[in-house]
Amino acid sequence: MFPRRGASEEEVLVELEEKTAPDLTFDSGRILGSMCTYPHPFALEVVRRYIDRNLGDPGLHVGSQKVEEEAIGMLSNLLGLERGYGHIVSGGTEANILAVRAFRNMAGVEKPELILPESAHFSFLKASEMLGVKLVWAELNPDYSVNVRNVEDRITDNTIGIVGIAGTTGLGVVDDIPALSDLALDYGLPLHVDAAFGGFVIPFAKALGYEIPDFDFRLKGVKSVTIDPHKMGMVPIPAGGIIFREKKFLEAISVPAPYLAGGKVWQATITGTRPGASALAVWAMIKHLGFEGYTEVVRNAMELSRWFASELKRIPGVYLIREPVLNIVSFGTENLEEVEEELKRRGWGISAHRGYIRIVMMPHVKREHLEAFLRDLREVIR
Ligand code: PLP
Repeated sequence: MFPRRGASEEEVLVELEEKTAPDLTFDSGRILGSMCTYPHPFALEVVRRYIDRNLGDPGLHVGSQKVEEEAIGMLSNLLGLERGYGHIVSGGTEANILAVRAFRNMAGVEKPELILPESAHFSFLKASEMLGVKLVWAELNPDYSVNVRNVEDRITDNTIGIVGIAGTTGLGVVDDIPALSDLALDYGLPLHVDAAFGGFVIPFAKALGYEIPDFDFRLKGVKSVTIDPHKMGMVPIPAGGIIFREKKFLEAISVPAPYLAGGKVWQATITGTRPGASALAVWAMIKHLGFEGYTEVVRNAMELSRWFASELKRIPGVYLIREPVLNIVSFGTENLEEVEEELKRRGWGISAHRGYIRIVMMPHVKREHLEAFLRDLREVIR
C-alpha cells in the first residue's frame, strides 16, 4: 500500500535492513557463482559524487559525455583498436542486443539470421525476439568451443553476422576467434565477440603468460565487442560496454532524440535516460588501476582458479567439466541437484546448470572462502 504519511529515514532503513536480511552479499564471500562482485570503493565514490549525470541528455552534461568517449577510447585501446565507437550501457545484454541490431540494420535482408555458438548467453534470445532475427545455433567441439566448420555450414544469403564468445558464461571457454574472424572475412560478414566476461580478463591473463587465443579487434573480421566493466572491471552495476570498429555501425542504430533540454541528439542505446555516473566510474577505475592494477586482480583470480581446480580433482566423485581457461571452474558430481540443494541450504550462492556447478573467481572470492566451500562439498558428497 502506498503510505499516506512518511516515516523517518531511520525507520525506513531499519525496515529495509530487515527486508534485505535474506540477501547474500558479495563481501560475505558466500557468492561463488556470480560474475558480479563487490565494487571497488573508489568506483563507489565516483558514482556517489556524479549520481545526477544523465547521458541520455548529453547536451546538459557535455563534460560527462566527453568522459564516456574517453572511457570507450581506453577500452578500445585495450582491445587493440586505436579508435572505437560505442557506449557504456546497462550490461552485456544491452551490448549484445545493440550489436545484433547494428548487424541487422546494416545487412538489410528480409529474413535475417545470426549464427552463434550453442554456448551463447541467453541475451541473444531477447535480441532475437525483439529484433526479429532468427538464431542459427552452431555445435560445439568436445572442448566446448564452437565448431568453426559447423559455423561455416550454417552460412546462407540471410546471414547477417556471426557471434563468437570470449569467456562463455558457463565454462569461461574462449572460442577460436582467429578462425571465426578469417571465416567472417571470407564471407564478407561481421563478427561480434561477446567478451562481456572475458574482456576484463583475457588481455591481462595473456600479459601474465596464459595461453589464450586472440579475441579482439587485432583480428580484422571482428567488428564489435561486448566488454562489461560491471563484471571483472569492478565497477558498480550497471556498467556494460559495446564497442564497434567503425562509426557506421553506431550510425545504423541511432535515432533522433528531438525534445531534450540539452538540444537534439542522436541516440543509439536502448535506454534513453542513462547513468552518466556509470561511465564516469568506468573511466575512473581504468585510470586508477591501469593495466598493471587489473593485471594483479586477474593474477589472483587465475591462480586461485588453478588451485581450486586441482583441489576439486582430489575429491572422489567430483570431476571437472574441463580444465579452466579463465577464472571460472565448473564441476560435476553424481546427484548434482541434491548436492546443489544442500550447498545452497548451507548458504552458498551457487547454482547447477547444464549438468554442472560453476564457480567464478571474482575479486571478492578469497582462498579461505573456497577452503570452507571445499569442506562443505566433501561433507555433502560423502
Ligand atoms: N554475455 C556473457 C558471455 C555473459 O556471461 C553475460 C552475463 O553473465 C552476458 C552477456 C549478459 O550480461 P548482463 O547480465 O550484464 O546483461
